[in-house]
Amino acid sequence: MTPQQRNGRVSGPRQARRRPRLGCARLHFGVGLRCLVGLAQGLISCAAWASNSVVVSYRFLDLDDPGAVRDVNGVAVLTFGGFDANDVLVDAWGFESIDAWRAYAASDPCLADSKTEQVGWRLAGGDEDIFWQLRAIVYLCSEYENILTAIESRPLVYDGNTRTWVAPGIERTGGGNYLDQYRAIVHWNPFTSSVYGAGVQWDRFPPLVALAHELVHAYQRIAEDRRTYSSPLQVAAMQGENLIRSAFYRKVPAYADIKPRPGNLGFYLNGTVQFLFDTFEWLDWSPAYAPLLDVFEQE
Ligand SMILES: [Zn+2]
Repeated sequence: MTPQQRNGRVSGPRQARRRPRLGCARLHFGVGLRCLVGLAQGLISCAAWASNSVVVSYRFLDLDDPGAVRDVNGVAVLTFGGFDANDVLVDAWGFESIDAWRAYAASDPCLADSKTEQVGWRLAGGDEDIFWQLRAIVYLCSEYENILTAIESRPLVYDGNTRTWVAPGIERTGGGNYLDQYRAIVHWNPFTSSVYGAGVQWDRFPPLVALAHELVHAYQRIAEDRRTYSSPLQVAAMQGENLIRSAFYRKVPAYADIKPRPGNLGFYLNGTVQFLFDTFEWLDWSPAYAPLLDVFEQE
């Protein structure tokens, strides 16, 4: 692919020569049909380039990536990219939202045919919706590929409560998000977008952020064999949470206002609880930042 081709990409369906893709039994003769199918599912537009490259990996692009798909107004949209063996972008699809991408991905044989072999399938326990939520996390934030791989490397953990070996998993809940430390089951509320009442900007987040947070706790339980919860485990969970928050900030237009999480809850000062840390800006954050635990000070 020449720089001219890369720079020449525009929004809207474009023709492409056949492009065999990893995991596809069929050859891909053009992007038009794919785009029409996608449009019905919330896919905004797509871009493709004449290429014989085989797509070997996927990820969502940053909005400021030159390869990001743009809408009719020239504004970058959520973009799912396919990369060849040299990690060169050879295909890109634009979506209205992560939900729209999930609907599309589940129907794309190139993504879905090998789902039972992909990271996330085992933990999802055959629940397709959960599986695609996990895949969205991985494609947004590649660090979670390693976290999920480590989790799935142990198909069973010992539940000291019932003295049985049990399979880790994810269950939906209408309540709060948490990890069942005994059974290594993540309880995830797909509708929770705040923990403390959203009084500050950092306490507003997409539900996938909370799932990603609990996945770190699952990793701690399953891969590190930490069978008892303790407050310091929150630090790594919040660090993982900030990685996915950063990904939403950089890649998903609807979350331009999302902030990194500065800490757990808040602190006591002069005997009064000071709820929530102040807003923390991305300029002050790095992946190495260790979020603060609750500080209980009596003065
Ligand atoms: Zn936690």
